[in-house]
Amino acid sequence: MFRSLYLKLVLIMTLLMISIMAVVGTFLISNVAVYHLDEFSDQMVSMFQNEEFVSRLRIAVADGADGLSKVLDAYSGNLGIDPNNRNYYILDAKSGMRLAGSDEDNEVLDLTPNILAAINGEIGDSRSITASYIDIAIPITSNINSEPEFIIYIRDLKQRQEELTTQLFTIILEALVFGLVISILLSFLLSKTMTTPIESLTHLASDIARGEFSKRIEVHSGDEIGVLTETFNDMAEKLQTTLETVENERNKLNTLFLRMTDGVCAFDRTGEMIQMNTAAAQLIGLFEANDADVSETKPSYEELFGELLPLEEALAIKPPDYFETSHTTADRSLDRSLKVIIAPFGENEREGGVMAVVHDITEQTRLENVRREFIANVSHELRTPLTNVKSYTETLLENDDIDRETQERFLDVIIRESDRMTRIVQDLLTLSRFDYGSDDLRIHRAQTAKLIERVYRAMYMDAVKHNHTMTMEFLGHLPDIYCDSDRIEQVLTNILSNAIKYTPEGGEIAIKAWTEEDNINIQIKDTGIGIPEKDLGRLFERFYRVDKARSREAGGSGLGLAIAKEIVERHGGSIALESKYGEGTTVTIVLPVRGEDANVAS
Ligand code: ATP
Ligand code: MG
Repeated sequence: MFRSLYLKLVLIMTLLMISIMAVVGTFLISNVAVYHLDEFSDQMVSMFQNEEFVSRLRIAVADGADGLSKVLDAYSGNLGIDPNNRNYYILDAKSGMRLAGSDEDNEVLDLTPNILAAINGEIGDSRSITASYIDIAIPITSNINSEPEFIIYIRDLKQRQEELTTQLFTIILEALVFGLVISILLSFLLSKTMTTPIESLTHLASDIARGEFSKRIEVHSGDEIGVLTETFNDMAEKLQTTLETVENERNKLNTLFLRMTDGVCAFDRTGEMIQMNTAAAQLIGLFEANDADVSETKPSYEELFGELLPLEEALAIKPPDYFETSHTTADRSLDRSLKVIIAPFGENEREGGVMAVVHDITEQTRLENVRREFIANVSHELRTPLTNVKSYTETLLENDDIDRETQERFLDVIIRESDRMTRIVQDLLTLSRFDYGSDDLRIHRAQTAKLIERVYRAMYMDAVKHNHTMTMEFLGHLPDIYCDSDRIEQVLTNILSNAIKYTPEGGEIAIKAWTEEDNINIQIKDTGIGIPEKDLGRLFERFYRVDKARSREAGGSGLGLAIAKEIVERHGGSIALESKYGEGTTVTIVLPVRGEDANVAS
């Protein structure tokens, strides 16, 4: 860069110098020639207009060529005669033959146009700047009216002019060499001042190309290069901020992409994976649920979604259409329900591809199943007592001969079944009110010990009927509690009735209550049938019963624990159930002394 600019400048300067010198030289040399011609003419004109000289010449005509020579010799200084350069000659006026001359070598003279003019009786003083000599031929007579007898011919060989020209030429050449040296130096300086900032710009540009945006160049001058440098600095700064903004946006999108709960995978047109987020990796069961670097393993489209929709068909979809399907990964390691949406993206061949969005609908599907199961359960639970009521009523209606005792038994069943239905409907209503938040608790201050005792006493007879030993123990003083006492009694009744129901005859049921920090703990322990471990997790679901037949036989519908949990949690407390199959069950209820809405009433 520097070198080529330097050479160009040197070349331009040299050409400039040479052309200036050529013009100056030509001008000077031609001026020297013109000056020399003029000088010769002026000298000759002044001599031949000099009357004394001319009259002496006329007189000398009588003495022939020798006489004329003497006169001319006498005036040789005025005529500028110099044997090597300027000579005079006396010529015969008719033939132009040389008769005498100031040089010694008797040269035979050519008949120049001026000599020929003099032969014709005129003054020959025509001049040419290109000729190698300057001359003048003057016919001379003794008398003005007589025929010319001689011609005085003066010829200058331009030696002085040539000497001058040579000198000038030498000076011009010297000046040229000197000028060239200066121009080379100037070019160097000029190119240096121009290229240094340009070089800095080049470095900055390559730094920017490498992604280093922080560097700037100092601006030293206000000239065009200074302005360019400043503009370049501005550009670098704008580029830096723009790129930072873009990078920021990209990071945001990337974070969003990586952290979103929906899985997103992008594939190119050949089915190779371009990108996949952690959610997708987790959902399709490729990685454990952690932040594993999904870029390490990149399954192709065919491997992941080929079975659902072949790649060609996916690419052939015309946006905004898309393909949607539900897919269960039960056959893989994770038991998940996924909704997969596949759509092509990108207009052109090079950038396009297929995007797959994997949406986890496991929870949605589970809720849907729970809902279906719930409806089926409700229908079933109501249908059984209804069928019983209907059949017993029909039997009573159709048979008049049924004895009184059987009639009463039948009516008793009808009443029991109706009660059962009423209870189920009431329980369902309670739960539904809780679900919609329309059943507010009526919180008030209650005496904890009394509350527990009331339930204990109410259930005591039932326990005795089953030959159970039921005990109640308060460990330390129990403070008053802020709660909806009817609801808490409902909870305790259910837990206690469960303990009585699911404990074989002659079991032990122990109620314990104590205070821990600001909580009342109530524990109901039985020595009953216990609950298998696999069922423990689902006991608080609506209608869930371990052994449906047995539970129904015992009058249960599976709603008690669901309601209990709902009530306890709405009081800000918790309920836990521990059990060992065949050994017994312990239910622990923890209730805050000042319940959730404790400040409502007292
Ligand atoms: P409901 O209470 O609505 O009359 P239920 O007693 O059958 O009916 P839950 O109180 O919700 O329903 O109890 C759910 C199931 O948990 C019961 O059906 C029973 O199988 C089991 N279970 C509850 N308590 C005990 C217990 N103390 N011992 C053994 N099994 C129990
Ligand atoms: Mg129950």
